[in-house]
This record gives sequence, structure tokens and C-alpha cells, in this order.
Amino acid sequence: MNDEQLLRYSRHILLPEVGIDGQESFSRAHALIMGAGGLGSPVALYLASAGVGTLTICDGDTVDLTNLQRQIVHRTDAIGTAKAVSAQRTLAGINPEISVKTVNERVDGPRFNELVRQADVVIDCSDNFATRHALNRACVAHAKPLVSGAGVRFDGQIAVFDRRSPHAPCYHCLFPETADNEDMRCAVMGVFAPLVGIIGAMQAAEALKLLAGIGTSLSGRLLLLDALTMEWRTVRLKRDAACAVCSKT
Ligand SMILES: [Zn+2]
Repeated sequence: MNDEQLLRYSRHILLPEVGIDGQESFSRAHALIMGAGGLGSPVALYLASAGVGTLTICDGDTVDLTNLQRQIVHRTDAIGTAKAVSAQRTLAGINPEISVKTVNERVDGPRFNELVRQADVVIDCSDNFATRHALNRACVAHAKPLVSGAGVRFDGQIAVFDRRSPHAPCYHCLFPETADNEDMRCAVMGVFAPLVGIIGAMQAAEALKLLAGIGTSLSGRLLLLDALTMEWRTVRLKRDAACAVCSKT
């Protein structure tokens, strides 16, 4: 690390749990961020400012005026621009030292495997069950930790699914893929702006902890937030021995 990097990251380096080693593990790391919306915004901002060396940001949408209330990585002059590109521009202004790759399409099929294989940590900031399940299958197949978040109205949730540990559940253990999984698209629902900020910031925290190998991750725990009362509930998650996704691995 050069002098400027030592200064830029000094408040992380000062943490004994992080130090130079942890900061270098951030610089070497590659994080895959699926979605550059309400959750993806704070995730991308914090991982970029913290110096995660490579970010891949995937989003098939373009920025529109209704996004700006909560998708804080985008600026008003980015309306009409691909969200991944808009995020890349904002991040370049915050930390020009990192590399930000963009995927400006809705990811599907084998592309999930290709993207997940290259990543050290995967952050699910998507808004639909098809993407969540496809991302989970790829994370299970490649044994990559998945930081999963969701938020709509005043309700948020966050969990980590880390199949590097054989006893840990995967996303499918918790939410089996069934026909009655209906997407609550925030396109038609209200979303309290700071709710996705709170959950997204926590996803960034879990991702950095996983990359530095510090603390205890949320693997095996689901946290549920009611932002109206600001009360959190913790649900212990068990692996489903008959899970159609992770029981085969
Ligand atoms: Zn499972």
C-alpha cells in the first residue's frame, strides 16, 4: 500500500480486527452485486469506499425519476442511463482506485455461474424470486458466501447463506421455490427510503466481515426489521436435509 492508500483506509487499518492484512484482503477481493437499486446502492457505495478491489454490478434497468428517492448511488442527471453504468460513475468519484465492471442486462441461465465463480462474495440486492433462487443455486454450486437482503414498505430482512460450512442452510432451505412465491415488486409497492439503506449497509458490513474473515457472520440467522417500531427479530435457520438445492452437494 502506498502513503495515499494508508491514509484513505486509515480508519479501517486502525481497527485491530482489520489492520493492514484485512485492508489488503479487501483490495484483492472481487464482490458481485446483483442489483443497483435501493439495496445495491449502499452496498456499492460502502464496498467502493472501503476499497474492495473489484466490483461487478449487474442491473438490466435504467435510472428513472421514481428511483431517486431511495437508490442513492444514482444522480438526477443519470435518468435514462443504465443503472450499472450510473453506479460505476458515482463510485469512480468516490474511489478511483478500484475496478468497477458493469453488466447491463438482466442476468439469467449459465451467466449466473460464470459471474458467481469469479466472485469472493455475492450480495443479492435483487427484487425478484427468480434471480434470488438462480443466484443461490450458483452460490451453492461454487461454495461462495451469499449475503441476502430484501426490503419493502417498512419491512426488511437480511441473512447470510454460507455453504462453505456443511451445516449451514442455503436460501432455498428457507424459501423453497414454489409456484406461490409471489414477487412483491417495489415497482408497485411503497418503500420507506432509509429501510433499504439500513439493510443495504448491513449487507455491506457482512460482506466486508466475510472478506476479512472477522467476527461472526449472519450465517444461519435471519434478521427481520419492522422499521415502524424499529424492532428486530432474529430467526435461527436450520439446514433442510431434503433441500433440492444444497442436499446434493
Ligand atoms: Zn438448501
